[in-house]
Amino acid sequence: MTRIIYVNGRYLPYSEAAIHPEDRGNQFADAVYEVCEVREGRLTDETRHMTRLERSLGELGIPLPMSRAAWGRVLRETIRRNRVRHGLVYLQVSRGVARRDFYFPSPDTLPTVICLARRLSASKSEALAAKGIAVVSTPDVRWARCDIKTVMLLPATMAKQRAKESGANDAWFVDDEGFVTEGGSANAWIIDREGRLITRALDQSILPGITRSVLLDLLKREGITLIERPFTIPEAQAAREAFITSATSLVMPVISIDGKPVGNGAPGLIA
Ligand code: PMP
Repeated sequence: MTRIIYVNGRYLPYSEAAIHPEDRGNQFADAVYEVCEVREGRLTDETRHMTRLERSLGELGIPLPMSRAAWGRVLRETIRRNRVRHGLVYLQVSRGVARRDFYFPSPDTLPTVICLARRLSASKSEALAAKGIAVVSTPDVRWARCDIKTVMLLPATMAKQRAKESGANDAWFVDDEGFVTEGGSANAWIIDREGRLITRALDQSILPGITRSVLLDLLKREGITLIERPFTIPEAQAAREAFITSATSLVMPVISIDGKPVGNGAPGLIA
């Protein structure tokens, strides 16, 4: 249960937390966010998440609302007040409140900052990882700057809902050339017959996932070969393994794609 939400400097009870109707995040999706895992009461990969948040804000020209040290205090206090040992913390920054107008408001407009923390069941996600997930492909109809973590999530919402309605757990976006970009809210990976990991290289078509970057560092240490290149759905269906990465799912095996089993249809050894 989320009990307390941080909104612009105040820790408010859930039912009292609110933002203004003319918030730019509300009217224009003019806002960015981060989701960090909380494990044993501690933030995972905090520095990488904060670096990405600052980059997202910079790309949109939203002023930095607070220092790293202040973010750290807000995140920890929100986690503490919600007594989260295992779960997530969600942080959102919009360009602030202004009379509805496409042009940016005056530079002294204060960004709106929201932070909430929520418990997640560790055993449920472990159980799902042990079983693996099914994904379905869908055309990537998102904008050309998916490297910025904006709250403009309608394409992901539509894709994930359709996946759910078809009995799958998640969607994989496919670009105009037939290559997988990424998952609805995760990066997409496959492992080929030679045991090499393959994931799309970073560009403006995908989010630079924090879990992806941590995994890349681990692979180097483990001496596992990585190839950063795009792959197609038929290639993924014929792969030895497939999986997704995100802060909340970590490494989640994918056992079927568009109804076709990957490998032997069970989570693979490497994932
Ligand atoms: N791609 C998209 C579109 C996402 O929404 C997410 C989750 N935020 C990711 C990738 C994975 O990123 P991370 O590992 O930082 O959670």
